[in-house]
Amino acid sequence: MDYAKLSDLLAKPQKIIITTHTHPDGDAMGSSLALWQYLTSKGHDVTVITPTGYPDFLHWLKGHEEVLVYNMHDGTKAKTERLMKKADVIFSLDYNDPKRIDDMCDMLTAASAVKVLVDHHPEPKDFASLMLWDTTASSTCELIHRLICGLGGEKEITTDMAACMYTGIMTDTGSFRFPATSPTTHRVVAALLETGLQHTLIHERIFDAYSESRTRLLGFSLKDKLVVLPEYKTAYITLTRAELDEFNYENGDTEGLVNYAYAIKGILFGALFMEKGNMVKLSFRSKGDFAVNEMARDHFDGGGHRNAAGGSSALSMEETVKKFTELLPRYKDKLWSA
Ligand code: 5GP
Ligand code: MN
Repeated sequence: MDYAKLSDLLAKPQKIIITTHTHPDGDAMGSSLALWQYLTSKGHDVTVITPTGYPDFLHWLKGHEEVLVYNMHDGTKAKTERLMKKADVIFSLDYNDPKRIDDMCDMLTAASAVKVLVDHHPEPKDFASLMLWDTTASSTCELIHRLICGLGGEKEITTDMAACMYTGIMTDTGSFRFPATSPTTHRVVAALLETGLQHTLIHERIFDAYSESRTRLLGFSLKDKLVVLPEYKTAYITLTRAELDEFNYENGDTEGLVNYAYAIKGILFGALFMEKGNMVKLSFRSKGDFAVNEMARDHFDGGGHRNAAGGSSALSMEETVKKFTELLPRYKDKLWSA
């Protein structure tokens, strides 16, 4: 990142938009709202725009009430379009391909604003003129901390900003267990804790706040919908629209569900298939060296990290699962040597 250039750009009040990927998670919202608070405190006119809504368990993050959700109704779409046209600077956080913001993609590409990418996903598309891009970083929140420090703002990190960044680091590292959790990650977390945030409360708000129907959906998924294929060290769960409706599915209710698939002894590759709109959304997870982003990229119009990736399919659920199981023999050697 060229901090001198970014500092110059932010030397006087600017109209700034912060965008993040569709169906934002803890890292997406934590990074967006931490940066929103920081830039707002510096006198800029800042709006966070998300392509879709995000789960209730993230609504306590400071700044949530100010977020503009693009896909809410025609008014929010028109407002987004106006803001995008007028913006001086647009940040892209926690995604590396404009396609990840769905319908907002064309507006972003057409906007005359300076585009700044802050992200940790491999193989970014070339659309931003300033980039803080590091695939070894645990999360975009870790990079936002680096960015704020790079701009000389370390002493200005408030407890609320720290809580946002802690949330994203905690969720993207699976509570500090995934391989990208580095000494730097822990140093950043230590600095965040020193602002006085209550980490126990954050864990409770994110992980111990299930609705009854979410807990029952988890039970149903594990008891009736889990398919285990030991010969491919693979396990997967499918959820149709009707099944999700039966359990009053809300955004975020299946967060973490895929982890149960690969948590089985002897299983390396876990997948979750869910009907969303007229697509099937895929979530892939793996343990060890088996790279799930390859299958996501090559066969399901997606991508992601080695051990956590996703994609989508326009086929029916049945056909998508068929395609997936027919692909597995091609990965058998890699699954057994990983
Ligand atoms: P999740 O399974 O939590 O939806 O996504 C896990 C990771 O996979 C995300 O952090 C993101 O890197 C990647 N991912 C998920 N869905 C897509 C997609 O449709 N396209 C791309 N390029 N990456 C995705
Ligand atoms: Mn992330």
